[in-house]
This record gives sequence, structure tokens and C-alpha cells, in this order.
Amino acid sequence: MKNLSQAKARLDRIQAKIGKREVTIRALVFMLNREFRGLRVKFESRPDPELRGSGLVSLSGLFSRWDSDNVRFNIIIVRDPLLRKLKPKKHLFMETYLVLAHELRHAYQLRRRKYRRTRREVTPFHHKNKDIKEEVSYLIDYDELDSYAYEAALEMHLRKLTLRDLHKVGTCRIMYGQRVKQHAFKHWKRFIRKLTKNLQTLSESGMGSGIHRR
Ligand SMILES: [Zn+2]
Repeated sequence: MKNLSQAKARLDRIQAKIGKREVTIRALVFMLNREFRGLRVKFESRPDPELRGSGLVSLSGLFSRWDSDNVRFNIIIVRDPLLRKLKPKKHLFMETYLVLAHELRHAYQLRRRKYRRTRREVTPFHHKNKDIKEEVSYLIDYDELDSYAYEAALEMHLRKLTLRDLHKVGTCRIMYGQRVKQHAFKHWKRFIRKLTKNLQTLSESGMGSGIHRR
């Protein structure tokens, strides 16, 4: 998939088709896959025991460097195992869009490097708590930080938020605003620098005026 606005148009189409109806998650996944056919995106749903009884769904994305069965982008609807049906709200489509944007950014990073397998700019990070070490190492990874800064800027642009509203953006509030800011401050600054730059580019391009607001 090349174009983010293409993805947006497809998601809008599904959202309009469903309207205020309740649909099974199965049907939703089916619609998503049909709409994105030919764009190397595959949607699936997966139960998560940790969400049991919460009634919640969340989204997770995966980008593969190499095509497998002509799929590059996997988007997984992680759900409460007891949940069969839902009324997909605007928020869910927005999140799907942002996860897609994140994964598309990974594809762009690869293109930018001309598909060379270079060593990623890995910054060693140590912490005695293994969970913190893993999470922060992941978040400060060169490509991940770049993708998250892009995703966050896009969300802020769509929601018309400014840098003063960072706490309203999920990625910033918990992942970068807490974990990274606390444990790897210079990477927090790097994140903010990239975020600001992306926001600037987005507002200069005029993207979102009319197209993304509804
Ligand atoms: Zn990523």
C-alpha cells in the first residue's frame, strides 16, 4: 500500500456502510479485508485473555520487510475473548488509520534506505527492571521512534491538537511521556523534535482540511 489517503478513503467507506449498526467482529474483519484487497494489508482479530470481561478492543500492527503471501501489513484487532459484536465507533476507525500510518512509515523508512539492510541505529539502554529495559529499548529504536512520532503528529493534526495537548495523545502520554521521558530523556527530546517537524509538514501541506475532518 502506497498512500495513506487511499487507506483513509477505504476506512471512510466502511464506516459509512456500517453506520450505527452493531456488527460481529468477524464481519468487520471481512469487510476490512475486502476493502483493502490488493493493497497488501491483512486484518485479523485475536482474543486476548488479559482483556477478558473488559468489553474492549485494541489494535496492533505489524510490518514485514519481506512479502509473505503478498502481505506486508498485518493489522490485528485484539479483543476481549467474550466480545463477539460491537458498534464500531469513529474512534476505532481513527485508530486503525493511525496504526496503518505507523506501519506505512516503516515501509517508507525501508524505501528511504533503498532497501539496504543496514544496521539500525541501536542505542543500548540498560535498566535493572527487565520490563522497563525492554519497553524503553523498543521505543527508542531509531525506526520505532520515527514511526511513533509520525503517528502522534498525524493524530494531533486530525484532532486539531497542539503541543500543549500532548497529554491527550495516547502515544505521548504513556509510552513516550512517561517511560521514555523518565528513563531516556534525550530520546524524549528527539521524539518531540520529530513530532514538531511532522506537525509542521502536515499543516503546511494543508492535508486534513476537509478530507480528514468529518
Ligand atoms: Zn513500529
